[in-house]
Amino acid sequence: MEFATFADRAAAIEAEPADLEIVDRVTALLVDAGDDLEIIARFVQGRVFPAWESTTLDIGPTTCYEAIARAAGTNVDADDVEDRLAELGEIGDVAASYEFGGQQGLGAFTGGGADGNDGGSGDLTVREVHETLTDLATTEGAGSQDRKVDLLFGLFNRCSSEEARYLARLVLSEMRIGVGEGTVRDAIAAAFDAPADRVERALQVSNDYGEVARIARDEGVEGLDATDLELGRPVQAMLAQAGTVTDALEEWDEAAVEWKYDGARVQLHHDPGAAADPKSDTEDSASPAADPDATGETRVFSRNMEEVTDALPEVVEFADAHLDRPAILDGEVVAIDDDGAPLPFQEVLKRFRRKHDVAKVREDVTVRPVFFDCLHVDGDDLLDEPLTTRHDRLEAVLTEEPDQDPEDVPALSLLWLTGDPDEIESIDADALEAGHEGIMLKNPDSAYSPGRRGKNWRKRKPDVETLDCVVTGAEWGEGRRATYLGTFELSVRDGDDLETIGKVATGITDEKLAELTDLLEPHVAAESGQEVELEPAIVFEVGYEEIQTSPTYSSGYALRFPRFVGVRHDKNPEDAETIDRVERLRGR
Ligand code: AMP
Repeated sequence: MEFATFADRAAAIEAEPADLEIVDRVTALLVDAGDDLEIIARFVQGRVFPAWESTTLDIGPTTCYEAIARAAGTNVDADDVEDRLAELGEIGDVAASYEFGGQQGLGAFTGGGADGNDGGSGDLTVREVHETLTDLATTEGAGSQDRKVDLLFGLFNRCSSEEARYLARLVLSEMRIGVGEGTVRDAIAAAFDAPADRVERALQVSNDYGEVARIARDEGVEGLDATDLELGRPVQAMLAQAGTVTDALEEWDEAAVEWKYDGARVQLHHDPGAAADPKSDTEDSASPAADPDATGETRVFSRNMEEVTDALPEVVEFADAHLDRPAILDGEVVAIDDDGAPLPFQEVLKRFRRKHDVAKVREDVTVRPVFFDCLHVDGDDLLDEPLTTRHDRLEAVLTEEPDQDPEDVPALSLLWLTGDPDEIESIDADALEAGHEGIMLKNPDSAYSPGRRGKNWRKRKPDVETLDCVVTGAEWGEGRRATYLGTFELSVRDGDDLETIGKVATGITDEKLAELTDLLEPHVAAESGQEVELEPAIVFEVGYEEIQTSPTYSSGYALRFPRFVGVRHDKNPEDAETIDRVERLRGR
């Protein structure tokens, strides 16, 4: 297809206000795309490469302005382009406001024939634009910036105003014609008569609109259904939304509870190679796994499917040591201290995406992966399997390190299946105690939905509100904690009286318990067995999930999932919350 035709069609789509008509127009464009279908299915979304590919054009606005300026004539420079941008507000309008096509010189090597009018060369094709942009993306090293400007200049120099508008937008990845991923999915379905959900599934596993369009056209539904995950081609990560334990247990009989690690998401693709892959030499001799010299390949991708393998050698080493089958695993990479305990998220950032001095920085910050999901093992795609099955497969595929210390960040994220809020509470307390962020609550029966932020994965919501409560009682701990006060009774004010509203035992480290014991012991008014009555003196700030009516406490209310936040040293019992406020908060 000529690029001028593509630009015309893009202009017509842009001018169309109604969503359904936009889908119709994109459908027609795909039907007419012929051999350029893959390219056009991407271009129409402002993409040059498949979403999963790490290749980027890496063209900053300045490079683009320079190329436009050069193609626009000797009396135009990048500053003029920027001025016009300030005036017109959008790069497509700016590019379309110049007359190109008269400049000689460097553009000639792309075949750019300057014909001296505003009609453009008239012979630029979609394929040539794609080829030149691919060249440009792979240009590296000294002088690459100049070479990029040259290549881009060569393209602009052959453009009419309309072509220039869409070329500029494509180059800066902002097509602005109202075509999103859903539009292209629906257009592929309509153009090639395939059910939208099958197109969607193929898109989820391949992340390539171009390839899926071609398969839908040439191979039909069967081809779409046969599109599988591929080692080395990342999948979008399933995402979580915030949620409460209460809601999770109301919706599911049991929740799958996991620790929430505070790191950066990683997707590991590991192929141990022919030697360790008994299937490969019989079934697929063309696959890289069948190469007798293969030592195994590991690639690591970020949450946005960007390749981060080189920045994280520990993950590669881990895969070599602990995976002997081809697999795609989902997890988190966490920074750890010398004892293997987790460090805050900021530390991981010193390593993630790092391109230079990796070995040196590795000496300062060590990372390790912890895996919580398994998308593919040994040729089996597991996206549609329930979470619990995927977790079993994960457990089976990982050969766990024999000498793992329980204090370490685990390599395999443990999963507890439970419907018991107290058990969930204690898993949460253990997670916090071990230095992690809290817990994730997952629907045990749910499939893996790439790119979705659904209800099937919930990160336990941080407390929306906190209450300042008077500590009116406590219990002596047991075992290791026998010398500490714990399980603190909380009260709120009702006029001059104090009425109980709950007990808090979680979110407190041993160190903190020792400190709180020192603070509270002088206020012990009475003791009976492990129970201690305290005179009102100390105020705790407490987070909670919700307030319920309850016969258990004298206020008539109970805090659901109370969590210790801190001591309000600045507050006296007279400043603590009142029952009126509790009632107001509950009414919200
Ligand atoms: P957030 O980034 O706050 O939206 O929380 C979701 C993120 O938590 C995920 O994208 C993961 O990177 C991370 N995470 C940590 N532990 C887990 C886990 N056990 N399951 C799923 N995601 C986890």
